[in-house]
Amino acid sequence: MQSTPVLTDPFQRDVTYLRVSVTDRCDFRCYYCMSEDMTFLPKRDLLTLEELDRMCSTFVEMGVQKLRITGGEPLVRKGIMTFFNAMTRHLESGALKELTLTTNGSQLYRFAQPLFDAGVRRVNVSLDTIDADKFAKITRWGKFKQVMDGLDAADKAGLKIKINAVALKGTNDDELHRLVEWCGQRGYDLTWIEVMPMGDMGDADRLDQYWPLDDVRAELAKRWTLQDIALNTGGPAKYIRVAETGGRIGFITPLTHNFCESCNRVRLTCTGQLFLCLGQEDEADLRAALRDNPDDNAPLQAAIRTAIARKPKGHDFDYSRQKVAGEISRHMSHTGG
Ligand code: SAM
Ligand code: SF4
Repeated sequence: MQSTPVLTDPFQRDVTYLRVSVTDRCDFRCYYCMSEDMTFLPKRDLLTLEELDRMCSTFVEMGVQKLRITGGEPLVRKGIMTFFNAMTRHLESGALKELTLTTNGSQLYRFAQPLFDAGVRRVNVSLDTIDADKFAKITRWGKFKQVMDGLDAADKAGLKIKINAVALKGTNDDELHRLVEWCGQRGYDLTWIEVMPMGDMGDADRLDQYWPLDDVRAELAKRWTLQDIALNTGGPAKYIRVAETGGRIGFITPLTHNFCESCNRVRLTCTGQLFLCLGQEDEADLRAALRDNPDDNAPLQAAIRTAIARKPKGHDFDYSRQKVAGEISRHMSHTGG
């Protein structure tokens, strides 16, 4: 019997999860993620849809079981459904267990049903506020109603939604309970993310925005009955259940708790670089191995193996002592959040 292939790193972690950024572009300009005058990559640098297919298919052949498509905003990439539809074959063969995406929700009103038809069952939608005015301030260019229509379309299509909210002191801290209630009513799980030191914003900005999730949890406990649940997604989130709503709340705390020991993921940028850790600069250029060998996958496989053998033990983000350490100059939209 043929055994399932596995990619194992030097710390005996099996790499089964690939996050793929399909574009660095976005129709929003969230203030903690992008500046308003972003310069984007020239199109020729991006992997084509065919190259994305070949790249992802190679990872799946080598043991990746979960693909998360992200960006920038993945649903603004032209022709993106061609790529999702191409990945359906791996779900059908059973090699791929899950095909999913992280989106700002702006295009879900038109893509929810096609995504479901391609085999997507769960979607992470990033939404930091349910106040339309605040939404306009945070996203700068986002249209709140369009996102709400997208969520309705996703519900209708049968997609399971998880809301991702970045915890932003002075911005959405007053909406904590309202968001929990709203997610409970709509049947959505909710994950809070600590703002990470990525992109070229000054230390002062980051520290002003930073709202530690231990504080978020303490605030939640004042109003809701929080039950610990043993849910391990192999990822950085820790989960609790809110007894009153039945909904789950996750906390992604790269800064207050180190989660690296169970890390099962690597990240591919839209230009074909493989980042082995979100919080480290170390990367491997897989695009050259792919483009230089159009008819032979062996060099790409070798490049992937060599890269995984270099996966570092963990990141070095640290906000202690009132300064930002371990800061990463690239934007989250480049590596794919
Ligand atoms: N555009 C899509 C979206 O917003 O969901 C996908 C890409 S976005 C970079 C992925 C996630 O990263 C979003 O949930 C966003 O809120 C989060 N993010 C962006 N910059 C961040 C930062 N500096 N710290 C923490 N999370 C960040
Ligand atoms: Fe765009 Fe997502 Fe970054 Fe907001 S967080 S600017 S939606 S990539």
